[in-house]
Amino acid sequence: MNADLHCHSTVSDGQFAPAEVAARAHANGVTLWSLTDHDQLGGQREARAAAEALGMGYLAGVEISVTWAARTVHIVGMNVDAEHEGLQRGLESTRNGRAARGEAIGEALAAVGIPDCLKGALRYTDDPDMISRTHFARYLVDAGYATSTSEVFSRYLGDGKPGFVEHRWAKLADAVKWIREAGGEPIIAHPGRYDFTPVEFAALFDEFIQLGGRAIEVVTGSHTPDQYREYADVARRYGFEASRGSDFHGAGEGRVDLGRLPPLPDDLTPVWERWL
Ligand code: AMP
Ligand code: MN
Ligand code: MN
Ligand code: MN
Repeated sequence: MNADLHCHSTVSDGQFAPAEVAARAHANGVTLWSLTDHDQLGGQREARAAAEALGMGYLAGVEISVTWAARTVHIVGMNVDAEHEGLQRGLESTRNGRAARGEAIGEALAAVGIPDCLKGALRYTDDPDMISRTHFARYLVDAGYATSTSEVFSRYLGDGKPGFVEHRWAKLADAVKWIREAGGEPIIAHPGRYDFTPVEFAALFDEFIQLGGRAIEVVTGSHTPDQYREYADVARRYGFEASRGSDFHGAGEGRVDLGRLPPLPDDLTPVWERWL
């Protein structure tokens, strides 16, 4: 089983259309796949149809942006009903505000001497309402302000950097509820990416469990190998099921390609077991 349950298409901030991502997943040996665009289910039909045509297992997915303790946390909803109206309405309300935030990011960058960024970033998406920091990052790299998107985040767009704009996403309780009501399983995405103290992490995991959450990503392209071990231990301590996903966005971005992650540690329960 080569499960890759986290990646992005042009529907959010990926570089390839859903069917192209499906083809790449299949070519890389993925046998169970999920497209998890940010706050959007618009790619699900194409993704499922492409996966089925390739004989690859498919689970509908989404990655919801949440604000928790004044920081952004991502919750993956796995095996959701992509046609569920409550989930769709929730995601729509979460997406609202991206356009205005994009303008604020453009202004913040102009104030530090980088003009016309919003216009530049909009060239990297077909959907202005989905404007993301990733699109800004691609523009800034191509315009020569940095050599990689990760450098853009550490210099300009990450927390506390000049182009960082505070934004209020969905509430954790709402994201979990929308996912559950749509028949899906909520999964805390890439916990290693969050800049929390041990006390804050414990509070996040406890609250997630209280809300009915029971799974976290362990092996993800957003973790280092040390973090695979660290969050495997967290899964053991909390009794979480584990997920695995590349968080692939495009060629030459990110640490790993689709399907090219190490397996989960043998003793962990894969979140996908119940759907096999
Ligand atoms: P947004 O939802 O507009 O705040 O953009 C968040 C997206 O930026 C994430 O989904 C990642 O694709 C990307 N991102 C966040 N942090 C980094 C980083 N350090 N390096 C590269 N990409 C990042
Ligand atoms: Mn992204
Ligand atoms: Mn994420
Ligand atoms: Mn992601």
